Amino acid sequence: MKTSVLVVGGGLAGTSAALFLAWRGVPVTLVEKHPGSSPHPRAVGFTARVEELLRAVGLADGLPPSRMVKGFGIRRVRVESLAGEWFEETFWSPPAELSEIEYSPCTGVGVAQDRMEPILRDKARELGADIRMSTRMLEFSQDDDGVTAIVQGDGEPYEIRADHLIAADGHRSPIREALGITRSGRGYMHTSRSVLFRAPLNEYLKDGIGQFIVDGVGFLTTYGDGRWVLMLEDREYDEPELRQQIVRAIGRDDLDIEIITTGRWTISAAVADQFAKGRVFLAGDAAHTLPPSRGGFGANVGIEDSHNLAWKLAAVLNGESRPSLLDTYDAERRPVALLCHQQIFARNDGHNRDGEPDDAPLIDNSAMHYGVLYRSDAVLGAGPELPPAQRPEQWNGQPGTRAPHVWIAPGKSTLDLFQRGWVLVADHPQWEEAAKQLGIRYERIEQLDVFGLSAKGASLVRPDGYIAWRSTDLPDDPAGTLETAFRTSSAGTP
Ligand SMILES: Cc1cc2nc3c(=O)[nH]c(=O)nc-3n(C[C@H](O)[C@H](O)[C@H](O)COP(=O)(O)OP(=O)(O)OC[C@H]3O[C@@H](n4cnc5c(N)ncnc54)[C@H](O)[C@@H]3O)c2cc1C
Repeated sequence: MKTSVLVVGGGLAGTSAALFLAWRGVPVTLVEKHPGSSPHPRAVGFTARVEELLRAVGLADGLPPSRMVKGFGIRRVRVESLAGEWFEETFWSPPAELSEIEYSPCTGVGVAQDRMEPILRDKARELGADIRMSTRMLEFSQDDDGVTAIVQGDGEPYEIRADHLIAADGHRSPIREALGITRSGRGYMHTSRSVLFRAPLNEYLKDGIGQFIVDGVGFLTTYGDGRWVLMLEDREYDEPELRQQIVRAIGRDDLDIEIITTGRWTISAAVADQFAKGRVFLAGDAAHTLPPSRGGFGANVGIEDSHNLAWKLAAVLNGESRPSLLDTYDAERRPVALLCHQQIFARNDGHNRDGEPDDAPLIDNSAMHYGVLYRSDAVLGAGPELPPAQRPEQWNGQPGTRAPHVWIAPGKSTLDLFQRGWVLVADHPQWEEAAKQLGIRYERIEQLDVFGLSAKGASLVRPDGYIAWRSTDLPDDPAGTLETAFRTSSAGTP
């Protein structure tokens, strides 16, 4: 069979790649070797930025809000037990300077990974993605024109031919290994055991505190739906001992506790040295394995990889852009993964067990979530002198950063103007005319100051909501200037 993009791996990165591609009308097939999601969830917190991406494809309504507290992320305390004495707060992410500025129309999502994956999968299917569960990719090869993979479901192995392959096959990524792509970073850190259980403990969740370091036991947190997970040191535990550990962590033995399942996790930190080779692109943990204990970047950054890649693949496949646009995936996303790796170790994990902290300056969550800078050929005017991340008001519409949010009508954000194609934001008839000539959608907004523009300026926004270029004032030849900027940043065919 033939498809445009074959995605291997039906975790959060792969499923969101299928979702974003299908939403852009790209024929996509996903293969996942398991029949469904793992019964033991991992991620629970999805950032407001990820919620913005879901909102754009019509998915954010009804998702439970994140437990992150503005300026803090999720709060974490050291305790004797939930019911016992509570000691100091050890910050999961650095407390940020509280700003009055509203950065996003979204606040983040608090839903466990085993619930989120089916939500993304159902929506991807609804939009036309061909999702094949219980189907394993056995081998693949690539040539100048495409990728050939052999996959197997219930029956005999068969061939899938695709223009491009997305390897979202997890941190061990057999595809990455087969391509010979090496990784850098701290590497193996530790192995943990976990027990997932259900217990009525909501009374202990207050003031945004949702993570507990329990002295002498381990790390306790909740999926926010009655399920809790206790992370323990790596050894064998039988069921009576697991119950005993749970009771110690709670500090009470009068509650009904239902043990759901157990897990064993290898925690490591590594970033692939290349995010693409030929027609194959790495996304999610295959590209970067980021420990969850200090910042919750892993799944969120993986979903953002898929989003960055989806519009570029769509543009190249439909002939709007030259294939060189795809080179900007590595140029834009690998530095973000490396920055997350650095910031994870610049933060306190509350255990001090994984080696020396990184003494890099801490970048707060608002900057990490809304303000990473892309420097690539798809951005004009993002030089090496600029910092890797800042808060949106510090960037003030800098090309290479996410276009800022501001309400333009009740319930309507500037972000709602983007995602479908290229957009020119301005408030001047000459820019309107220039955009019309090039077939670029023109959006007139009054709040040009948040884009760092004068009343005569304009910003060109890419289909992923990032600013590609801006002219702070009106040049002599707006149409010619815009055309050059558009052709360059979109790798558009002349
Ligand atoms: C305990 C824990 C807690 C975490 N908490 C958070 C958090 O709160 N926030 C956060 O952002 N991140 C968190 N993370 C990290 C997050 O879970 C991962 O970053 C994320 O799940 C990675 O998604 P993925 O799709 O890249 O990979 P995976 O979820 O590993 O998916 C890869 C998929 O590929 C499939 N596959 C592999 N090979 C093949 C093949 N040959 N054919 C077909 N299918 C194949 C696998 O079956 C698997 O389903 C946590 C991680 C852990 C361990």
